[in-house]
Amino acid sequence: MKDCIFCKIINKDIPASIIYEDQEYLAFKDINPIDKVHILIIPKIHIENLIECDETHQMMLGKMLLLGSKLANKLGLKGYRTMINSGVEGGQEVFHIHFHVYGGSKTLAKI
Ligand code: AMP
Ligand code: ZN
Repeated sequence: MKDCIFCKIINKDIPASIIYEDQEYLAFKDINPIDKVHILIIPKIHIENLIECDETHQMMLGKMLLLGSKLANKLGLKGYRTMINSGVEGGQEVFHIHFHVYGGSKTLAKI
């Protein structure tokens, strides 16, 4: 999608600290980390958020979650927190679905 910042990262139109890439997904470091390790995993297809997803996206979503776990392990995290913000009221700022995985500095408080 033309004006989507994450599509621009996928197309290498703007730089990012990429840590993983395959045909379907890209993972890169969050530019404004909230923990020692903070990565974002995105599908290469442009979907705004979870609100836009339906049964046809089950496989894409499941694979994205498992990729998050695999990358967290690769980055040495023994435990981590995951987050998907959906919609303005859900705190979403970038409207290309993304999966936050973060941790590493301390034991996170319960929320
Ligand atoms: P969200 O509130 O879930 O939409 O979060 C968007 C996330 O994208 C924030 O944590 C930002 O720090 C991050 N972000 C925005 N622009 C970039 C960028 N160019 N490269 C890496 N991360 C970004
Ligand atoms: Zn996009």
